[in-house]
Amino acid sequence: MKLIFLGPPGAGKGTIAKKYSTKHDVAHISTGDMLRAEVQQGTELGLKAKEIMDKGDLLPDDLMIDIIKSRVQDEDCENGFILDGFPRTVAQAEALEDIITIDHAVLFVVDDEIVIERITQRRQCPDCGRIYGLNKKPETEGVCDKDGHELVQREDDKEGVVRSRLEVYHERTAPLVDYYREKDILEEIDASRTPEEILKSVEEATL
Ligand code: AMP
Repeated sequence: MKLIFLGPPGAGKGTIAKKYSTKHDVAHISTGDMLRAEVQQGTELGLKAKEIMDKGDLLPDDLMIDIIKSRVQDEDCENGFILDGFPRTVAQAEALEDIITIDHAVLFVVDDEIVIERITQRRQCPDCGRIYGLNKKPETEGVCDKDGHELVQREDDKEGVVRSRLEVYHERTAPLVDYYREKDILEEIDASRTPEEILKSVEEATL
């Protein structure tokens, strides 16, 4: 099963992708996570990426296409994968089409205001990467359940940057909705519900 998860930042794509990938043994490919790992390791790509990500802008298409081209060939993708955060532009979608056939593009439908509330509440463990938010609060406020580290807010989860990310989404990524609708592989999911309900709908639409 080769899936694309499409939708604004904070729609819950990452949360559902993690659950779905574990349950159905497909790879979860999050370009945001891959870039954040580069930032953490202080690589050349990471340094370049951080500057762009902190503003809520997109990295160049060519760079992202190269990253994905090599990633989808990894062994863990043999049984399928979920692309979470890619493609984000029509150019990326066209390049993807040249290398692989996608089964479904799942659109996470949710209002901007819900997204803003969700993202600005989001906190992450700087050590293990675990994410907490409205639906999953830590046992002790501000502290990771797993390793006790103090939780932090991602630079790009601050409200001003979230609004920019949403603008970028509507301008550059939302055209992909029509793109995949025309290809007849678009599945629309109401993402304002609980993760369990969303997962169930995604399964019904894709399995
Ligand atoms: P995400 O965690 O998916 O919201 O991604 C965080 C940030 O990484 C985005 O705001 C972009 O700056 C960058 N990024 C992730 N995926 C892409 C992509 N496919 N194209 C361009 N930039 C990306």
